Amino acid sequence: MDSVTAHEALVQFLYRAPIGLLQATLDGEVVMINPMAAQWLLPLAPNGDLSNVFDVLSGVAPGLRAQAAAATEAGTMVCENLRLAWPNGGRTLALDMQRLDAAHLMVSVNDVTLAEQMERQRLDARLRDAARIDELTSLPNRLAVLERLSSALQNRHTRPFALLYINADRFSGVNVAHGAATGDALLRRMAGRLTRALRASDAVAGPTAARLSGDQFVVVLDDVREADAALSVAARLIEALSRPYGIEALRLHIGVSIGVVLSAQASSEGPESLLEEAGIAMREAKRTGGSRSVVFEPAMKHLEANRGSLEQDLRVALERDELFVVYQPLVNMADQRCTGFEALVRWQHPQRGLVPPSDFIELAETCGLIGDIGARVLGIACAQFARWRRDWGDAAVQTLSVNLSRGQLADPGLVALVQKTLVDSALPPACLQLELTESMAGQDVALQSHLPALKSLGLTLALDDFGTGYSSLACLHQLPMDVVKIDRSFVSQSETSAHHRVLIDATVRVARSLGMGTVAEGVETTGQAEVLTRLGCDKGQGYLFSRPMTAAQVALWWPQTMALSPA
Ligand code: C2E
Ligand code: CA
Ligand code: CA
Repeated sequence: MDSVTAHEALVQFLYRAPIGLLQATLDGEVVMINPMAAQWLLPLAPNGDLSNVFDVLSGVAPGLRAQAAAATEAGTMVCENLRLAWPNGGRTLALDMQRLDAAHLMVSVNDVTLAEQMERQRLDARLRDAARIDELTSLPNRLAVLERLSSALQNRHTRPFALLYINADRFSGVNVAHGAATGDALLRRMAGRLTRALRASDAVAGPTAARLSGDQFVVVLDDVREADAALSVAARLIEALSRPYGIEALRLHIGVSIGVVLSAQASSEGPESLLEEAGIAMREAKRTGGSRSVVFEPAMKHLEANRGSLEQDLRVALERDELFVVYQPLVNMADQRCTGFEALVRWQHPQRGLVPPSDFIELAETCGLIGDIGARVLGIACAQFARWRRDWGDAAVQTLSVNLSRGQLADPGLVALVQKTLVDSALPPACLQLELTESMAGQDVALQSHLPALKSLGLTLALDDFGTGYSSLACLHQLPMDVVKIDRSFVSQSETSAHHRVLIDATVRVARSLGMGTVAEGVETTGQAEVLTRLGCDKGQGYLFSRPMTAAQVALWWPQTMALSPA
């Protein structure tokens, strides 16, 4: 190739190259520009004038002239990959400029519109993923779960699935006792165990574990039709998550409760309602003791809603003073004289009518209202009883029995409250008897420790509902009780069942040997009363003698009873 053809070939190459090339003097006067460069730079050039490269770029890169002047050595880059956008946004260019020789600059321009678009898309995708990942545990988050559930719901007829809603029991206690950092560490460890436990369960195809928020985790199990399959995975998860956690010097024990929804039973309203149903089942598991799993049933929804509104109503009831106290007489079995009253709480609900304590005492325990309710009942009953003693004479009625609940017994302020109430009502402590059930007093060592302090106030304690709980005659001596109340379920069968008579007989004997009195609860017939008297029961309480009465009813009832009873 001679030098002329070589030159032409080079020119052809420069003209056709899919890259913009431009040569300019040090002042920026364009010496050579190929069509690609002209096409790409033209929209940037003021008035379409491409004669000086610095003028062309003055709008987008005003400092370039000075930068070029500073690059004195041949081969020095003035700028590299300088991004320039067309004013109308149609294209993005990348520009390189270098000092070519003593008198020239060389510019190359590339169209990077597409590359930039792809990069932005990649970034968007990364952001989208990040929006679906829980930062703390790196598990998928709530958004990811909702998407996963949506698609699972669409295919549920061909691929039934189960949703497990997992929640730690009493997690907030960890945060409170050991700080949020420990709480976070615990959540990360739980997430780790969850993933490992699922991976190990080969019965399940591609499970997804995710964190919704706080200590709420979920697992989606595909191809699960039967409750048993879901429950066996749940059992394995509970086992794995409940093993103690060593976090720094701490050894943390935490239980978990799991709610299970099967897609076959779920309402088809969408992922949110599916999560809600699983949550309801989880709360049911917690409510019934925790560290277990419960499968959702539609009836739970109404029950929970009802409980929710009842709880709301109960708060209002306390403000509006809708609670009142009724009194049921306790009588001496020997002569049927009234020796005292048991105070029983009632709630006059404006719409529901009279709500029995069985419907709201347990609820009050779980929603933290029991302390308030218990204090009120104690205050009202003590004041009323003191008034009767003033009206009828001290010897007339000896004891007022008031029920204590588990929540009250766990309250460190209980002893002080009882003491203050006695002082306020001017009731001698010996008149007050507090009733506790076997399950409260017998099971919990921490609760038991309050009993001597209560007794030191001078009051007496009764073991309520004896026979229904966990303790037994053999344990009776371990509790500092003065009275044993034999449960109605024994009394009601005392006439018909020899077996129950034997048990009542044994209870009375053991109680007597320990210096404790006995009360038969729920005496309804004279036949029962006769049996109980024969078996040596000291006192009785029941519809046979009287139903619970309001204070006003007691005021009318008392003179009649006094007239009837033997002097
Ligand atoms: P409890 O302490 O065993 O009270 C006796 C329950 O048996 C009362 O039900 C009473 O009305 C009922 N009863 C009495 N005699 C008979 C009878 O002859 N036949 C039948 N079938 N029942 C009889 P009530 O008032 O509905 O209270 C139920 C439970 O609610 C109480 O059982 C007690 O555990 C709890 N409770 C009631 N008031 C309070 C309170 O102020 N505080 C606490 N913590 N619990 C209370
Ligand atoms: Ca009682
Ligand atoms: Ca009872």
